Amino acid sequence: TDFGYEQVPVQDKVKRVGQVFHSVASRYDVMNDLMSMGIHRIWKRFTIEVAAARPGQKILDLAGGTGDLTSRFSRIVGPTGQVVLCDINASMLACGRTRLIDEGLVGNINYVQGNAECLPYPDDYFDLITIAFGLRNVTDKNAALRSMLRVLRPGGKLLVLEFSQPTSKPLQSVYDVYSFKALPLMGKVVAGDADSYRYLAESIRMHPDQETLKQMMQTAGFERCDYHNLTGGIVALHKGYKL
Ligand code: SAM
Repeated sequence: TDFGYEQVPVQDKVKRVGQVFHSVASRYDVMNDLMSMGIHRIWKRFTIEVAAARPGQKILDLAGGTGDLTSRFSRIVGPTGQVVLCDINASMLACGRTRLIDEGLVGNINYVQGNAECLPYPDDYFDLITIAFGLRNVTDKNAALRSMLRVLRPGGKLLVLEFSQPTSKPLQSVYDVYSFKALPLMGKVVAGDADSYRYLAESIRMHPDQETLKQMMQTAGFERCDYHNLTGGIVALHKGYKL
C-alpha cells in the first residue's frame, strides 16, 4: 500500500504479534484510553449489552488481554458461572490476572494461555464467545472461526469486536492520518515504541471489512450473521450463532 506495508511470512507475523504485545502489555490500558480517546470503553459497553450474558453461563473472552470484558462478565455470570480469559501472550495474560485479582474478582475466572486457532476445549462447551480487537492479530482467521464454532454450544453466540472500514470517505481520510501519523507518534512519545503502534495501524488497515468478515463467519458455519457499525464503521461488532 502507499503506507509501505509489506506482506510478512506467517512465522514472522506470529513472532511479531508476540513481540508487540509483550512490549506493550504493561502500558496497554493507558494507551488504549489515549489512542481511542476513551471511546473503546463505549465500544466494549455496547458489546456487553449485545452479549446479554446471564448468571451461570460459561463465557470465553478470547484474546482477552488485560481483561476489560472478562471483568464485566465475571460480575454478571456470578459464582455459578465461569469466564475463561484466553490469550496467546503470557505477558498480557499476567497483566490481566493481576488487574482482575486487584478488582477482587476471584473464583469464577480461569486464565488460559492458548491459541484461537486451536482452542483447548471440548465441543459445545461455551454459551458465549467474545473476541475484542483480537481477530486481526490471528494468523489463520478462518481456522480460528472454525475453532470458535466447535467449542460454542448449539444456540450459542459469537461476538467479534474489531476495527473495520469507515463508511464515509471524509472520515476515512481523517482516520488514515490519525492512525498512520498520530498513532505511531503517540506510541513513540508515551510508550517509547513507535514500531508496535505502526504495526497496530497496519494490522487495522489489512483487516477484512464488514461484509468480508460477515462472509468469513458464514463460511466457517455461523448462522444469522450480522454486524453493527460503531463510530462510523471505524469499529464493527459482528454477531453470529451456532444453530
Ligand atoms: N480483548 C482485549 C481488549 O479488547 O482490550 C485485548 C485486545 S489486544 C489488542 C489483542 C490480544 O490478542 C493480545 O493480547 C494478543 O496477545 C492476543 N492474540 C493475538 N493472537 C492471538 C491468538 N492467535 N490467539 C489468542 N490470542 C491472540
